[in-house]
Amino acid sequence: MMSDEAYVLKIGQSRIDINAMTATGAFYALQSIVQMAEKSRNIKCCMIYDCPRFGYRGLHFDVSRHFRTKEFLMKQMDAMALVKLNRMHLHLTDGAGWRIEIESYPRLTEFAAWRPYRKWSDWWSSERNYCESGTVGAYGGYYTKKDIKEILEYADRKHIEVIPEIEMPGHSDEVIAAYPELSCDGRQYGNCDLCPGKEETYEFMENVLEEVMALFPSEYVHIGGDEASKERWKTCPDCKRRMQEECLADVDELQSYFIHRIERFVNSHGKKIIGWDEIMQGGLAPNATVMSWQGTEAGISAAKAGHDVIMTPNAYCYLNYTQDAPFKEPESIGGYVTLDKVYSYDPVESGIDKDAASHIIGIQGNLWAEYLPDDCMAEYMYYPRAFAIAETGWSKEENKDFGNFKNRTLGLLQLLRGKGYKTFDLENEYGERKESLNPIKHLAVGAAVDYSIRYDSKYPATGKEALADGLLGSWSYGDGRWQGFLTDVDVTVDLGEVKPVHYIGATFMQIISAWVYMPEEVRISVSTDGGTFSHVGTVFRDFPATVDGLYFKTYGLVCDESCRYIYFQAVRPQIDGAWLFTDEIVIN
Ligand SMILES: [Zn+2]
Repeated sequence: MMSDEAYVLKIGQSRIDINAMTATGAFYALQSIVQMAEKSRNIKCCMIYDCPRFGYRGLHFDVSRHFRTKEFLMKQMDAMALVKLNRMHLHLTDGAGWRIEIESYPRLTEFAAWRPYRKWSDWWSSERNYCESGTVGAYGGYYTKKDIKEILEYADRKHIEVIPEIEMPGHSDEVIAAYPELSCDGRQYGNCDLCPGKEETYEFMENVLEEVMALFPSEYVHIGGDEASKERWKTCPDCKRRMQEECLADVDELQSYFIHRIERFVNSHGKKIIGWDEIMQGGLAPNATVMSWQGTEAGISAAKAGHDVIMTPNAYCYLNYTQDAPFKEPESIGGYVTLDKVYSYDPVESGIDKDAASHIIGIQGNLWAEYLPDDCMAEYMYYPRAFAIAETGWSKEENKDFGNFKNRTLGLLQLLRGKGYKTFDLENEYGERKESLNPIKHLAVGAAVDYSIRYDSKYPATGKEALADGLLGSWSYGDGRWQGFLTDVDVTVDLGEVKPVHYIGATFMQIISAWVYMPEEVRISVSTDGGTFSHVGTVFRDFPATVDGLYFKTYGLVCDESCRYIYFQAVRPQIDGAWLFTDEIVIN
């Protein structure tokens, strides 16, 4: 099938010919010329036939956590167009603030668009209240309908479709603060989920969507659907009645009922819904497109069931994860996604059959903005990784070559910097945690590790072998090498026979934005028979538990022991939800 975006570009000695089926194709031919001219003013004669692998090549903007001006969005569209990204996903609503004028519900922008703290973490750790527009110190903002029209006109010139996201039924704290009657218990604060039991909730959402759909020409409306807690639904009389009347077995099916109804409404206006992969819980709405963010499994199963899917797995496409060694990068929620990692992703994994593959319609890079108050910080996180998203969306897998891409990217970054964008410094990348690059040798490699408290099932790493496999973790606790605990670490390592031991230690990480802390102390004992243990020493935390950023600390002892068993106990700080992560118990 010939893509609407395809073009043929013929550069001869004295003229350039462009052939395309659509204005978009011709526009992309021009972008290719701009890119070629960036490298050298002398463009070589050539003949290019070009068309995209995927029709959906998106970039996500979280304007709820931090409002961005329309000028900022337009500037990013210039960069997007240059690399042929064609979808701008606007995350317009979330707990941190409502960002679009809705005439029928003025409190959304008089009140729910403003908060008393600029720094998201200050607001998050406070009462999470909102404030009236015009209050001294009120932080936030929103797009008027006029602003949206300007954004859309600009997008049209850049051949970009803007997709509005109205988050529901979770992540809706700000809606409930403005209209408390839409929550289960009617309370203004302390609720993040809308009540799917009450008819008023549907009326509200339909009125909002009606205004949104009238503004945006996009074929899609993104309805969120992620991370609803569903907790209150279990006891709410309205929710319980709804579940009974509609024969819904549980709250997952109640969410599914809600999404189905919203989908019917959106479909009846000639448009389609996109939702995060949680919309599959309790049964997927018949025409919904799924955005697969928690890995790729959900997306693949939706594609197999005949649903369109946009791949945006967090391990490759979350641009809010740090792109270089965390000690030199701005504060983030952790994770480690380099340019190379983004580029390495293939949205159609091997083993997916042709039918399912045809439902994978594209890829998107997401940038959640909790820790990015400044526009320039957002740009820094987008570029160059957005280029890798663009190329993965456009080029066939067999034509991708990272070395070649990186060379071109250095040129593009220079071009953007010349135009006033703040970008990551790719020339001076530090790279992965060096210690993790090669396996290490020590006495306990391959030793049996006995857990008196098991590691958490969310972060098992490689399981029982993980702390004695000779592999140290990377910058990211989610890399499959760091083992996570919501308890103390309480393990005994068995060396198999009595051996002289002169060092015992393990490294922990701290990144408090992700609730990862270092232990209060580590206690180490040894035994020859596994029955009687003698205390070797305790290593205390000499590191503040409150400092922002990512830190590693090794809790270790040099000793002179002769033993078979090493009892290793790391004490978790008494902080709700605090994680401990360690990668290896090193014994020498
Ligand atoms: Zn309810």
